[in-house]
Amino acid sequence: MAAYQSYLETHQDRFLAELLEFLRIPSISALPERAGDVARAGEWVAQRLTAAGVENVTVMPTEGHPVVYGDWLHAPGRPTIMIYGHFDVQPVDPVELWTNPPFEPTIVGDRVYARGASDDKGNMLAPILAVEALLQSEGGAPVNLKFCFEGQEEIGSPHIPDFMPPHRDRFACDLAVSADGGQFSETEPILLMSLRGICGIQIDVQGASSDLHSGLHGGRIQNPIHALTQILGTLRRADGRIAVEGFYDDVVELSSEERAAIALVPFDGDHYLEELGLEEAFGEPGYTNRERGWVRPTLEMNGIWGGFQEEGIKTVLPNSAHAKITCRLVAEQDPARIIALLEEHITQHAPPGVEVNVNPLSILGRPYSIAADHWGNRAAAAVLKEMYGREPYQTRSGGSIPITGVFREQLGADTISFGFGIEDENFHAPDEFFRLASFRKSQIAYCKLLAELGKSGPPA
Ligand SMILES: [Zn+2]
Repeated sequence: MAAYQSYLETHQDRFLAELLEFLRIPSISALPERAGDVARAGEWVAQRLTAAGVENVTVMPTEGHPVVYGDWLHAPGRPTIMIYGHFDVQPVDPVELWTNPPFEPTIVGDRVYARGASDDKGNMLAPILAVEALLQSEGGAPVNLKFCFEGQEEIGSPHIPDFMPPHRDRFACDLAVSADGGQFSETEPILLMSLRGICGIQIDVQGASSDLHSGLHGGRIQNPIHALTQILGTLRRADGRIAVEGFYDDVVELSSEERAAIALVPFDGDHYLEELGLEEAFGEPGYTNRERGWVRPTLEMNGIWGGFQEEGIKTVLPNSAHAKITCRLVAEQDPARIIALLEEHITQHAPPGVEVNVNPLSILGRPYSIAADHWGNRAAAAVLKEMYGREPYQTRSGGSIPITGVFREQLGADTISFGFGIEDENFHAPDEFFRLASFRKSQIAYCKLLAELGKSGPPA
């Protein structure tokens, strides 16, 4: 047995106790009154990194919640790997649906239940423990290491794009490894090949200076709700394809190999519909259900409001109407360009008699993708294959992790996903849990991954 492995085994009880301590901090980034707890979680991470033997540990302020940095740079000639994760968590409502209080971690069988257990505290602690084992038992790590742990992932990392540019040198690395992710199941590993980007707008349609009597003014002036729905009706064709001029211009179509790899990932369409309580799926023609959710761009209306919505009747001609829309984007769509296209389309289709304003929402992220044969993915695949006894599926995520785009743009570093959550672990929902088997497995996996990355390294 390798020295790191027996170190991990010897210290497993302490590691579990530390995980529970970490989980007790209610670091909910979305709630202003929890900002102190988010900061406390950051301090906890900083102390834990230092205790592991990581150097230059610093809690770095941002305009919002802090970032924790640390490094260990004593492997000359080897690549520099930056491990990423987040110590903030989602809110807990509805708290009455939790079997146990969300910040009193409870072990049931081989699972620990608590908010953040899987997303992302259990997952982000594992590489720190792995590095401790390497530094304490092997005399060093096989690569140079940097750590970047943030406290604002669950609110979309709004301050990271401004935080990173002045700290480019400190965070410079050859590859980022995200410990915020998962595997397909307990027996089936994955490589995550892409994440979608995101952008959004609010449409505000303004009519008269106040609400009016529909009997006196109806039919004589424009109705903002009619105007808004008329605009919204032009955004998508009846078959599901987005009708905004230029929307698909920059989409890179997948190769037949990439589509074949997606088709290999198990998907039970009937089960999917049954879970949702639906009879049929719907989406852009020419693509499978998986492809629509993973590698095609979308435009979804998130909310629409205006006029009278109480019980009974009010014969009102409302003076304004509003809608919120977000788009999920794929390579090489640029969120800023998509917003410009939406503005142009909406302006062109705005009916007369009202003022139509389009305002970008504060959420913005570029789509992210990485090749299966990228040196980072090759190393991850080798470790996963060894540990699971099978090739990883090549999966994709319909969601967005904006920081991956920041790492690529600001640091020139690609990001591979190497986490051990499993989709049934209720992240963002009541009774979130993490498998303790995954907690132990991920520590070993990280030791092996760093060894593999040390061997391969980036292409010269
Ligand atoms: Zn997460």
